[in-house]
Amino acid sequence: MKIIGPFTQLLPMTNMPLKGALSDDTLPIIKNGGIVVDGGKIVETDTYTNLLKKYPKATLQTTNGNTVALPGFVDSHTHICWGGTRAMDFAMRNAGKTYMDIAREGGGIWSTVQNTRKATKEELVTNIVHRANYLLSQGVTTAEVKSGYGLSVEEELKMLRAIQISHHCTKLHLIPTCLAAHTLPKDFDGNHKEYLELMENELFPILKEENLAKRMDAFIEEEAFDAKVTIPYFEKAKELGFDITVHADQFSTGGSEVAVEVGAVSADHLEASTQKEVEMLANSDTVATALPGATIGLGVTFTPARALLDAGACLNIASDWNPGSAPQGLLLTQASILAAFQKLSNAEVLAGLTYRAAHALREDYIGKLEKDFKANFVTFNTDNYQEITYQQGRLLPSGVYVEGEKVMG
Ligand SMILES: [Zn+2]
Repeated sequence: MKIIGPFTQLLPMTNMPLKGALSDDTLPIIKNGGIVVDGGKIVETDTYTNLLKKYPKATLQTTNGNTVALPGFVDSHTHICWGGTRAMDFAMRNAGKTYMDIAREGGGIWSTVQNTRKATKEELVTNIVHRANYLLSQGVTTAEVKSGYGLSVEEELKMLRAIQISHHCTKLHLIPTCLAAHTLPKDFDGNHKEYLELMENELFPILKEENLAKRMDAFIEEEAFDAKVTIPYFEKAKELGFDITVHADQFSTGGSEVAVEVGAVSADHLEASTQKEVEMLANSDTVATALPGATIGLGVTFTPARALLDAGACLNIASDWNPGSAPQGLLLTQASILAAFQKLSNAEVLAGLTYRAAHALREDYIGKLEKDFKANFVTFNTDNYQEITYQQGRLLPSGVYVEGEKVMG
């Protein structure tokens, strides 16, 4: 057993509501706090002085100077398993080329599919681990990773196996999601329905057998998959025990309605959501995930985060780190920019990066510093937690702890 601290401000993010708007005075702050850790889990948080009295035999792991500590961040939506680059897309888009122009000239998602297919499983592992460690250095201790650039049974399996291997090569905890329903591959001889049926029949059983994915995702959009073919696909996935998550309302509405109808754990993107979708999500158990990295990458509008919170939704913020629309991968920077544009409180941003993000992944023991939760937390060298969003990602963590061990800093 050990006591880690003292922390000038300790924000355990406990006893806060799962849904709705939050003002900063709802943030629990323990001044000169400490964390008791045993076997990688939290035993208790309290003032450092109280903990020294309560646990006289505990080992002490002391911090120096001003330090703010809070739960490790959770990035619930990433595509960090890919090969190649899409720098050309960014340049072409900014030169006024359309989605179709870019695809015709060899860019777009199909170019990433080709480059990911060309990469070996080992090369993909190298890429994932490199990006995972970069997220870890920003204080992210759990990240979801999607497949979706393989788009055949064999290639989706290669990606998900690479994600499974990577999990053992980084301290970042990875949660795998199957996104075989990303787009209809150009080389598939059949329609959308036939493609999804192939995945249900040939891919789903192997995913279960090898425990390769916890969640099933689909991109519901005019140029991807429509509600009619996706709902039966999701129903099949649910029968097998997969959690459902949806790329919803990115350019047009429809996806979030499917998400609520099938009981998805989260509906992600929502840049095109109107008040109708906002209220539907707020009245459901589906977490609304904002992806400001995609807004910044594409130069489009932000997810209506303020409206979602005011309507009572559970708002989560994730990076969507991917080669096409969100190549940045700076979660804290993105969340801080979203806060400036959507007028979010610090409490709303930090909740969206911790316990509300954990709920989007239905991971019950992360995102808060309370008894029996994993001792995943992050420290910053400052005496005021407000500096974290104020500096928009420039203030990097001074320490990153996973299951009570300091893995960075
Ligand atoms: Zn995405």
